[in-house]
Amino acid sequence: MAFGAAAGSFLPRIAYRLTVPFGAPPRTSCADCDRTFPAGAAGWVHSGPSCCGGGHAPAVVLALIAGALAALLGPVPELPVHLLAALPGLLLAMIDLGCLRLPDRLVGALALTGGIPLALLAPDRILPALAAGAVVGGIYLVIAMLPRRGLGLGDVKLGAALAFLLGFAGWPAVAVGFGTAHLLNGAIAAWLLVTRRARPIPFGPALLAGFLAGVTAV
Ligand SMILES: [Zn+2]
Repeated sequence: MAFGAAAGSFLPRIAYRLTVPFGAPPRTSCADCDRTFPAGAAGWVHSGPSCCGGGHAPAVVLALIAGALAALLGPVPELPVHLLAALPGLLLAMIDLGCLRLPDRLVGALALTGGIPLALLAPDRILPALAAGAVVGGIYLVIAMLPRRGLGLGDVKLGAALAFLLGFAGWPAVAVGFGTAHLLNGAIAAWLLVTRRARPIPFGPALLAGFLAGVTAV
């Protein structure tokens, strides 16, 4: 949990700078006070709130995720892998909530930080994991192509990446993960309908929460 709180405190600045419209470069300054962020790594590596406003929520959330992973998984070799993958995971959720986008590079970072160590730990699971990624990615791609598409291409890529990572834990983990994601998404959609607040729902956070359920439940 200490790891989660410490690492999570660095997320607000990165998420803030990457919460931009499609194709736009990362923010170079704070929109509230016009203060310019330092160039290079110093502008990205920053603990605490990004600048004006914003809180310590990411640090708290990541601490809770880390605590849940440690408590439910126990001291298995996969634990540090998932703790590390939680960083790009939470970043993606924050950015998707902010601007309905899932930047490719972050999805790639998530797939690699999780996928490479998992493949080294269990080489015999690489094929099933790739199969899970292909199945979920394929189904989501078809859904994204439908006329009234509920999924964006970012969701397709994130779904495929998470299915690949869950595939290392087996097909039951994949089923629990994606079942949970769609239940969550359905509940949010129903709640928005009841409260008459029609707005697009980012699917990334539900996918990532589902991943957490899948990886810890099975
Ligand atoms: Zn500011």
